[in-house]
Amino acid sequence: MATIAFIGLGNMGGPMAANLFKAGHKVLGFDLVEASKATAKADGVGIADSAAASVKGADVVITMLPAGKHVVSVWTEIVSSIAKGATIIDCSTIDVDSARAAHTLASKAGLLSVDAPVSGGVGGAKGATLTFMCGGDARAFAAAKPVLEAMGKKIVHCGDPGAGQAAKICNNMILGISMIAVGEAFALAEKLGLSHQALFDVSSTSSGQCWALTSYCPVPGPVPASPANNGYKPGFASALMVKDLTLAQDAAKAAGAATPLGQHAQELYKAFDAAGHGGVDFSGIIQHVRAMAKS
Ligand code: NAD
Repeated sequence: MATIAFIGLGNMGGPMAANLFKAGHKVLGFDLVEASKATAKADGVGIADSAAASVKGADVVITMLPAGKHVVSVWTEIVSSIAKGATIIDCSTIDVDSARAAHTLASKAGLLSVDAPVSGGVGGAKGATLTFMCGGDARAFAAAKPVLEAMGKKIVHCGDPGAGQAAKICNNMILGISMIAVGEAFALAEKLGLSHQALFDVSSTSSGQCWALTSYCPVPGPVPASPANNGYKPGFASALMVKDLTLAQDAAKAAGAATPLGQHAQELYKAFDAAGHGGVDFSGIIQHVRAMAKS
């Protein structure tokens, strides 16, 4: 069993660190927020006085932070305190450039490093069923995999440093666009007098089938576990979808890729967020689509 430092004990990091402890690892954590530290402590995670103190003697260091600037700043602070040859893993969703800058910091300090953003949300973090999309060399991935397995059920090596973040933003761009498409189809069906269930029964077994429809249906009824049945409580908040679509747009501009629907999806979720719905599940975008209709 490994000695693991875990920095960023928020909605995702808290339960992920708790699962590492449950799997028998020694876990020492750190966060800036007292409440996050107290919850993690109650779950068996030891609490250090600082990020640098948490990594002393660690075989593996994990960060789960809001954005690229936090990751680069924390890694800059801690890399020299980590034992040479140890592994550092960032599980946050961040821009590809910051991910690569973090890898460079690690490699200069003699550490193995992996970018390993996740899919599966808070439910997946609590249930240890996350999917990890990993970027890094083969040695770093081999060192990270057994630890990630205590927090997830699918661990994919996507390629070189930054490839995990690239996979994450491409996947979430598909998700953001397809949820709008499904919402538009239900909004049109409503105007045409077609019931939600009838559209679902046809499209879920036809060429319109997709995850946004069959696992996360944006109208109440056809998929009982979807947030639409629970007042659009997240789930995955619209503000986080704006974040991921913005990362995709920034990456597309930097790489010279054309993503016209990704751009439009970002604009629609931004407008939904600006209207005060950032905390609403992203499937609630159907409400925005309905509101755009001429009555
Ligand atoms: P969160 O805000 O709940 O947690 C982030 C934590 O980082 C906070 O507790 C904050 O205090 C801590 N933090 C910030 N700066 C720090 C520093 N310098 N030192 C120590 N701690 C610091 O966010 P979250 O929902 O846990 O998301 C974390 C990451 O995971 C984000 O990048 C997010 O995009 C990604 N993600 C979230 C979800 C989700 O459903 N919540 C799903 C997939 C990916």
